[in-house]
Amino acid sequence: MPGSYNQLLEIQERTNSIGPDFGYLNMWYKIYVVVLSKTVEISDPYKAINFLGDCQKLYKDYIKKLIFERDRTICMICGIANKNGEWHIDHIIPKSKFPISHPWNLQILCVECNLKKRDDLLNAVPLFIEGARLRTTELFPDENINEMYEVLSDLYQTPEVERKPLESFFDKIIETESGWASIKAIIKDFSMIWMKR
Ligand SMILES: [Zn+2]
Repeated sequence: MPGSYNQLLEIQERTNSIGPDFGYLNMWYKIYVVVLSKTVEISDPYKAINFLGDCQKLYKDYIKKLIFERDRTICMICGIANKNGEWHIDHIIPKSKFPISHPWNLQILCVECNLKKRDDLLNAVPLFIEGARLRTTELFPDENINEMYEVLSDLYQTPEVERKPLESFFDKIIETESGWASIKAIIKDFSMIWMKR
C-alpha cells in the first residue's frame, strides 16, 4: 500500500520543527500520487520526505519527456536542435498574462531564445500556439493530453479549468490574427470563466 494522505499529515506532525510546511507536503503528495503511488510504501517520515524530494526529479523528467518528445528537442523560435543541450519550457502566452499550463500553451525554446523573447514576439502567439496544438494532437491521444495537462497543472499551479472551454479558448486565439491587443481581450473574457471557479 502506498502512503496515504493521513500518513503524510502524520509525517508532517512528527517532523513539524524541521520539515517542510503543509503546503509543500501537499504538493509533493500530489506528485508522488502521479508518479509512483503504486509501488512505494511510506512508513519512515525521513525516508518519506527524501522520497518525495526524489519525486520532484522524476516528475520534472516526466514533463520534460512529454514536451520534448512532442517538440523533438527543436527550439520553436530559431529552429536549432540541441543547441548547448539546454532548454526551457516556455509558456507561449506568458504565465503572467495567462497562467494555464496546457500543452498547447507550452513549447521548447533554447535558453537564448527564451531570454530574448520579448513583447514583439507576442503577436506571433497564435502561430506558436497553433504549432503546439498540432504537435500535441499529432503525438498524444486525447486521454494522454488530459494526463499531461493534469501533471503540468500541478507543476505550474494552473487554475482548474475544464478542458472544453480551454480548447475553444485556444481555438479563438489561433483564429485571431489582429495582434496581441485582441489576444489580451480574449484572455480577459476567458479569465471570467476561471475566476468564477
Ligand atoms: Zn532558439
